[in-house]
Amino acid sequence: MSGLFDAHCHLDFDAFDEDRAAVLVRAEAAGVREIVIAGVDPDGSARAREVARAALGGVRVRACAGLHPWWVDRLDDDGLDAALARLRDELTGEEAAIGEFGLDAASVSRGGSAARQERALGAQLDLACARGLPAVLHVVRCHDRLLELLRARDVLPRFLLHGWSGPEHLMPHLVALGGWFSFGPRVTRDGHAKLKRSLRWVASEHPGRWLIETDAPDAGLSPGARGEPGDLAAVAAAVAVALCRDEASVGDVTSRNAETFYSDGAAWH
Ligand SMILES: [Zn+2]
Repeated sequence: MSGLFDAHCHLDFDAFDEDRAAVLVRAEAAGVREIVIAGVDPDGSARAREVARAALGGVRVRACAGLHPWWVDRLDDDGLDAALARLRDELTGEEAAIGEFGLDAASVSRGGSAARQERALGAQLDLACARGLPAVLHVVRCHDRLLELLRARDVLPRFLLHGWSGPEHLMPHLVALGGWFSFGPRVTRDGHAKLKRSLRWVASEHPGRWLIETDAPDAGLSPGARGEPGDLAAVAAAVAVALCRDEASVGDVTSRNAETFYSDGAAWH
């Protein structure tokens, strides 16, 4: 087996400040060979880059840079312009992707601005295209709107719907636009029949378009527990059960897919 690839986590968060090195050792022992850290704001993206640079041992760590919709919702229009300019100016060429960014209706219902989230989405898709980087998207209860906005664009990067839990019927449309899907610790839980159906669909119809992730420290394996990249072994095991496959083949396929997704590449179309 080639090892596991955690396609999305937040190893830079202060939840790991006390024991980040030990977390990486445990991840390696669990079979994780690669980790991509998402960026959520300018300071966080810089920290993610530092954590990636400092990582020792047998796990390759890379970082993305992006503006998460929860963070965008704290800004006014001028603040968003400044943050987007800073995001662009601080790219170093080491980024695995632009992200995470996207649309979050739950955040809008807490007082956020859908219009500002959409502006941030468009600007970061532009940036990903301009740099030939893929994009990592966070989308909560806005998938129809996302599809509308993506279809209205002339050019799109490869994009990953991280922590996929959206409507199954939209998946073929998202695939057609260059979409990939990543599945997290939710697949380890009982129930979630629709999510597991989505997983089976993409794994059989578009076997090159799916990945696995922990989204650590959020979404631990048990309620309230801190997640960590080593949990990916349990995610892979649950995916193997859902697909009636062995864990090694799940590890191989998802690692290869993640490698391809996060490789340098031009915009999709
Ligand atoms: Zn995340």
